[in-house]
Amino acid sequence: MIIPVRCFTCGKVVGHMWNDFLQMISESNPNKKDMKSALDELRLNRYCCRRMILTHCDLIDKLLNYNIYKGQS
Ligand SMILES: [Zn+2]
Repeated sequence: MIIPVRCFTCGKVVGHMWNDFLQMISESNPNKKDMKSALDELRLNRYCCRRMILTHCDLIDKLLNYNIYKGQS
């Protein structure tokens, strides 16, 4: 879905780091980093915060294809 704003465990704000993370690990980025380096650079040191970014699946665009209210009104 949408990246959670805060880490579920410690409460650190991580939502704003998602786009930066994607940009850092992107193939089109000439300075492409591996995931560990990207997380280190974002200063996500605790493993609870790292898992928020690493395990996130961005499904919102796929879910929007199944809008039950489309065509009604
Ligand atoms: Zn955390």
